[in-house]
Amino acid sequence: MRAATSTRPADAGNGVGAAVDTHCPYCALQCGMTLSPAGRASVRVRPRDPSAGGLCQKGWTAAALLGSPARLTTPLVRDGGTLRPASWDEALGLVARRIKEIAAERGPDAVAVFGGGGLTNEKAYLIGKFARVALGTSQVDYNGRFCMSSAAAAAHRAFGLDRGLPFPLADLEGADAVLLAGANPAETMPPFLSHLRRAMDAGGLIVVDPRRTPTAERAALHLAPAPGTDLALALGILHAAVADGRLDHAYVAGRTTGFEEAWRVAAAWWPERVERVTGVAAADQRRAAAILSEAASAYVLTARGAEQHATGVDTVGAWINLALALGLPGRLGSGWGCLTGQGNGQGGREHGQKADQLPGYRRIDDPAARAHVARVWGVEPSTLPGPGRSAFELLDALGTSGGPSALLVFGSNPVVSAPQSARVADRLAALDLLVVADIVLSETARAADVVLPITQWAEEDGTLTNLEGRVLLRRRALTPPPGVRTDLEVLHDLAVRLGQPPERFPTDPETVFTELRAASEGGPADYSGVTWDRLRAGERLQWPVPRQPGHPGTPRLFLDRFAHPDGRARFAAVDHRGPAEPPDEEFPLYAITGRVLQHYQSGAQTRRVEELRAAVPEAYVEVHPDTARRAGLRDGAAAAVVGRRGRVLATVRCVPSMRPDVVFLPFHFPGAQRANLVTNPALDPVSRMPEFKVCAVRLSPAGEREAQ
Ligand code: SF4
Repeated sequence: MRAATSTRPADAGNGVGAAVDTHCPYCALQCGMTLSPAGRASVRVRPRDPSAGGLCQKGWTAAALLGSPARLTTPLVRDGGTLRPASWDEALGLVARRIKEIAAERGPDAVAVFGGGGLTNEKAYLIGKFARVALGTSQVDYNGRFCMSSAAAAAHRAFGLDRGLPFPLADLEGADAVLLAGANPAETMPPFLSHLRRAMDAGGLIVVDPRRTPTAERAALHLAPAPGTDLALALGILHAAVADGRLDHAYVAGRTTGFEEAWRVAAAWWPERVERVTGVAAADQRRAAAILSEAASAYVLTARGAEQHATGVDTVGAWINLALALGLPGRLGSGWGCLTGQGNGQGGREHGQKADQLPGYRRIDDPAARAHVARVWGVEPSTLPGPGRSAFELLDALGTSGGPSALLVFGSNPVVSAPQSARVADRLAALDLLVVADIVLSETARAADVVLPITQWAEEDGTLTNLEGRVLLRRRALTPPPGVRTDLEVLHDLAVRLGQPPERFPTDPETVFTELRAASEGGPADYSGVTWDRLRAGERLQWPVPRQPGHPGTPRLFLDRFAHPDGRARFAAVDHRGPAEPPDEEFPLYAITGRVLQHYQSGAQTRRVEELRAAVPEAYVEVHPDTARRAGLRDGAAAAVVGRRGRVLATVRCVPSMRPDVVFLPFHFPGAQRANLVTNPALDPVSRMPEFKVCAVRLSPAGEREAQ
């Protein structure tokens, strides 16, 4: 057992003088951990917990941030170009006054809100309510749009409902075969691999990734398509499965619709043609189809590598088509699922901080949903705004003549995490008011007019919903430092200053959750039967959980029927379109982006943990040695990765397993090392997710000017 850096004493005021069972603050696996009285993180061994009794390096060191000297403990207000300390009263008074002025002058949509997929369910819920009721704005969205919206849209289209894994995580332990499309859990969520042990031992792990990642190293079959061609690869494997007689005719006839239309497209993608487009051998495509179809228990799982494209919804749809053709979804011991990324990536997209949604995964343009939620909120349905701009479109519109001129940011760092980040920084600079609530002075907070210091994970109660749709109670374990407030308190204080009745914006998380339950009741993500008492008692509840005494939740969706009115899943007739920005003479390489084991998202937290920062202190670019040599670079050299929208500075890492036409950039680093300086904001037409995963670049030695 290891321990992380000690922090403050545990919160005796919470009745937890002893160790407190809680969950890691980072990814969607939400590994269980125990914070000891000394504030030390240590593993809580829970054999049936998603963590399987393990934590990755990020989890082990998570407590270090609780005592970080980088922690903000007083509000900051911009004065004469610099941020100076201010009282809460001054800071909130300034924010409320400016919001009123801007809204009075330009209308309610001139004020926008940007949330995050790591925020608790209660915060996501109250942010959506604050935007629609206290501000009256339609301009609210969140960074989950950058992470999981394509899988969500594809799942809705195919199954009529989106829940990351529509089955318990533990079901994967019985799998003989698992295809991971665009997932690298060996680095992003290492304890997850323990669930794939049987598939790995059986030679049934297939990994689709242009890079030979640590996950691909463990696979029996690694398929490395050219970036942006995984949709074609999925069509090729589907074609091989059908041509080799592996189609599950009874399942397709009894539980699905649309196969003929989907097959008309896939029929044109025979494996040899797909090999020419993707670079994946036809024999390997056939082998993948054989491994999946011959396994007694098989799963297809997708993640950001499949999603973060201008064709992300269709790419995920193509993988779902393959799973449907083999008869996997909605069958015990088999299925399709999405590996959600952010800590509350699932719950964060269910409770109303997304531009087109209301709580309970309801649509904001559905009159019945508007009436239900308005009743819970005590307002007229007609006062609720309609759908607003999606995340990048919202950021891109800031400070323009038709766009918002004020922005409130909670739990997000778009200066680093948004595509074409230099443009996003320019848009933020054009605002009349930028307010950032954060635990540290992130790159976005540095640009703010007002910075509000808030509590972090171990200092507050809240619920999150993990990648299998299970609602988890994250307990307050430590007393927050003096001077910080919770996001709920910030929303309450601002709402009251904007004229709302205080009781409409509670600050107690359990009270907010109780209201969330009512708002979600009857919706697709129905939490009405989840109570904190049940969670405190250790019940494992996966939504939907209707308000019925003792309802056990719904561990497995779709066993009897899918969520479309006819109960059938839908094939999607999707075709390969390729990346929005293919390489050319000027920019001959594909740049792909992703995460490393030691860092999380924009790195605002993990770059401030010494052990993690020391392990990976700066950006690097992985490149094949021949590609580096052609660019006049060697291992360890300072390189510029240059694209149409900007240039990224990074240290060269020569990796012989890289495709010679690809470079890889981790996206956790700030300033001139931001991978998102080059990424392409081309959006998927349905999910509005940007094409983070692929853009065209060239590689060159960093000039002396850039290297400084
Ligand atoms: S980052 Fe994810 S995998 Fe690592 S300990 Fe935290 S929840 Fe677990």
